[in-house]
Amino acid sequence: MNRLVVVSNRVPVASAATPAGGLAVAIDGLMEKRGGMWFGWSGAIVAGTGTSVCVRTEGGVDFATVDLTQEEHDRYYNNFANGVLWPLLHTMPELMRYDRRDADVYREVNGRMAATLQPLLRPTDLVWVHDFHLLPLAAALRARGVTNPIGFFLHVPFASADVLAAAPEMGGFVRDMLAADLIGFQTDNDLANFAAAAELFVAATRLAGNVLLVGDRRVRLGVFPVEIEPQGFAQLAERMAHSSEAEGLRRSLQGQHLILGVERLDPTKGLLQRLVGLRRLFARHPRWLRQATMLQIAAMSRKDVASYRALRESLDREVGALNADLAEPDWQPLRFVSRAVDRALVAGYLRSARVGLVTPLRDGMNLVAKEFVAAQDPNDPGVLVLSRFAGAAQQLDGALLINPHDADALADAMDRALGMPQAERRERWQTMWASIAPRSPVGWGRAFVAALLRATAINAVPDMPLRPARAGGRLPSPPIGSELVLVEPRRVTLQAAERVPLN
Ligand code: UDP
Repeated sequence: MNRLVVVSNRVPVASAATPAGGLAVAIDGLMEKRGGMWFGWSGAIVAGTGTSVCVRTEGGVDFATVDLTQEEHDRYYNNFANGVLWPLLHTMPELMRYDRRDADVYREVNGRMAATLQPLLRPTDLVWVHDFHLLPLAAALRARGVTNPIGFFLHVPFASADVLAAAPEMGGFVRDMLAADLIGFQTDNDLANFAAAAELFVAATRLAGNVLLVGDRRVRLGVFPVEIEPQGFAQLAERMAHSSEAEGLRRSLQGQHLILGVERLDPTKGLLQRLVGLRRLFARHPRWLRQATMLQIAAMSRKDVASYRALRESLDREVGALNADLAEPDWQPLRFVSRAVDRALVAGYLRSARVGLVTPLRDGMNLVAKEFVAAQDPNDPGVLVLSRFAGAAQQLDGALLINPHDADALADAMDRALGMPQAERRERWQTMWASIAPRSPVGWGRAFVAALLRATAINAVPDMPLRPARAGGRLPSPPIGSELVLVEPRRVTLQAAERVPLN
């Protein structure tokens, strides 16, 4: 079976203090089965780099890491990945601070990662690259002669081409991403935006079955929504609801309903709009004054990026103003916590909430939405108020779906959620639970790897139309694993009539 090589900006460091997230566990599971290597940044900032790599082996998995210099960390990670690509891919170009030198360093770091990784690869490895930090990596590996199957998964949304054009490099990055055999997205909308960008920037042709023809190569696109481990999270929530912290929170409510938001403090999460919505709730529906209170956990993140610091200042002002305007000597409408809360405790808090507010302006998936559903007591569940712009909205149609820019709609949804009869709460919850319960991060990882093997098979069929005549093109794909036996390679013909209309 082929070894799995995962490349991501950060390589997880397992420790008792910071248990690995669901995806890390899923990928570890796949690697234990296939053997594996996890490659990425160590988290360390050093004086000088080069192509030195540190490899340690744990549980049969190799962890190979490179360091960054201070300039690389500032320009590649803070300025370009977090300061340009993150807002752009979330359709918030007004937040980006573009500087061509940052883009150059971003490319250089990707090039260095490719140069360091290439000698570590074995001929039959499957390479799986993750996320927006590494858009040019597949192309940089191909440029070094790597012919292994390469899959790329984008955890964040993919914006439309006219928004992306705000960064001059984006067309080139789309071309670079197409050096992979399979490109995975969270939603159909992200996939459609990418296919349109590939047609526009790279003159790719969209064929039936989510295949893009790029020159003489076929690149498969797919949708792989990231999942949580629902049963495990449900058990955790049930247990943590009895923790002293969760009991303390409930005691402090003195019978009021809890409206809860949990996220990183991030401009994409719609926090300021949410506070306007909360104000509007009490103005439009005053019956909830003293009957409901909101807890917002907004864990400070990316302090090195100016727009995050600015958001923190705006939030501090708004939280203060909202409480000053509405609070009573013995009642407060809003509690705001800017520290990160341990995920287990988040589970206990989510179970204590009558209303879960997940209202990002744009989000690739939003795991908190799924965690809220998993955490509920099936007999007396809370209600999820969910932005239609979160990837999770594609799966969770039992939520009250809202437009987070519309404060009145947000207020009315909170009102409806707070007053919703138990029978309707149960019905909505059951719909959502049915959608997440059969899925898992492990299933997500397996589906991606199986699709990568199939995608490689498309280009490996020797008599396919437009197969490169040979010499100069890509070498035949290496032998691939047992899953291939189950796969019927698809024949793709190139009639114009087969093009899939994009709308
Ligand atoms: N989370 C946490 N403590 C916090 C805030 C968030 O453990 O104080 C967890 C949350 O439970 C979820 C993850 O961080 O598992 C956030 O993932 P999501 O997809 O919602 O958003 P992202 O931060 O990736 O944009």
